Amino acid sequence: MSRKRLVCGGSVLLVVVAAALTLDVDVRWRVSAAEAASKSPSGREWSRTKPFPVQEVYYPGTEALGKDEMRVVACGTGMPQPRLKQAAACFLVELGNGDKFIFDMGEGSFERIMALGIPLDQLDKVFLGHLHLDHAGDFPAFYFTGPVNNRLTPLRVWGPSGVKPEWGTKAWADFMLKQWGWEKAGRGSAVDPRGLELEVNEFDWTGVNEVIYDENGVQIRTLPAIHLDQSVSFLLDWNGLRFAFSSDTLPNKWWREHATGADLSIHECFIPPQMMMERYGMAPSEAVYVGTQGHTAAAAFGKIMSLTRPKHAVCYHFQNDFDTQIVVAEEIRKTYDGPFDLAIDFMTWNVTKGGVRTRMGVPNEETFPAPPQREKQPPDSMTAYQWTEFSLSGVEPESAKVTNELIEAFNARNGTDVAPGLTGLPFKE
Ligand SMILES: [Zn+2]
Ligand SMILES: [Zn+2]
Repeated sequence: MSRKRLVCGGSVLLVVVAAALTLDVDVRWRVSAAEAASKSPSGREWSRTKPFPVQEVYYPGTEALGKDEMRVVACGTGMPQPRLKQAAACFLVELGNGDKFIFDMGEGSFERIMALGIPLDQLDKVFLGHLHLDHAGDFPAFYFTGPVNNRLTPLRVWGPSGVKPEWGTKAWADFMLKQWGWEKAGRGSAVDPRGLELEVNEFDWTGVNEVIYDENGVQIRTLPAIHLDQSVSFLLDWNGLRFAFSSDTLPNKWWREHATGADLSIHECFIPPQMMMERYGMAPSEAVYVGTQGHTAAAAFGKIMSLTRPKHAVCYHFQNDFDTQIVVAEEIRKTYDGPFDLAIDFMTWNVTKGGVRTRMGVPNEETFPAPPQREKQPPDSMTAYQWTEFSLSGVEPESAKVTNELIEAFNARNGTDVAPGLTGLPFKE
């Protein structure tokens, strides 16, 4: 019985196909050949008291990154349609030299980033492939609430120019600052304001394989993407390893020429138009346009991977469930016989010259912000932001008295002399 007939069959048969495809695709638990070869039989012994020698999942913050190693964590793999399981596009790249880079920051991705427990002072470089909400929508929250989450380091962002100047990244960032002007003024009086500094780097969206970042042995280049206009893909090169990230694009000639042979190649990939009609209520023309013209159909993803032969391919940008993944994997296998993963949030890739290992990450759902990495300066809460007399006149005196007593006790306990701001003011009738 062909696989296609099995997919058309009942649910029991679907399970069989899913298992077969999982083996075929080898999606989750791959251990690199070099790593497998280095394991002695005794290394497989499970101690009663020590950490197990092999972790089948990745617990963020518990593993050293090798000096020659790259780790990539999916912080968003889904669609503009919000869902708990998948945030919109975002990938974190961590390098053995200590550098960390974020590629795209779609809606919902900020909470995934925070769940990794990494100090925001270490996450100061963001690269945006285009300015759709599912690729840039969480950037304002990441930027403005960075200092609330202990970022003291200025944030740096890179993004493409626009077909019109007002559509480019620089204008976008200027509008963002204006739109959230009140937010910024209020934050500035409540937190150490150094983390509110923003460096915007806009580059030519038509540049082909042009270097836009070259620091500390890391080069990042851009390729034009075909996703309306003014969209780009990125290549990151470091230490002989190459990471390629499409953001959104149709397979294109620039990707084919320059992304060839990447160690980890992450490219968008959609469910078939038929399924888009069924799942999203799209009209036929809409489903075909969105699923094959504005984005990469799964079979086309397979084709571009066959043409560019990465060491390891990753498709993302679809709602990855038990039923969609079978269909997407089958479509990809029509045109590509190499290794690939169907990305889901927190999927993690360890990339070395020896190969790529894929595991699922297990995040902490109850994180508090990691501590700042520099000494914090206390804000001047009463002078930076000018309160109106109207609000000052509204503080309730009896509750204020309780609050002032609380602050007095706090000072006695901590040996401080923090003055009550609002509640310490003389009351006005
Ligand atoms: Zn897009
Ligand atoms: Zn998108």
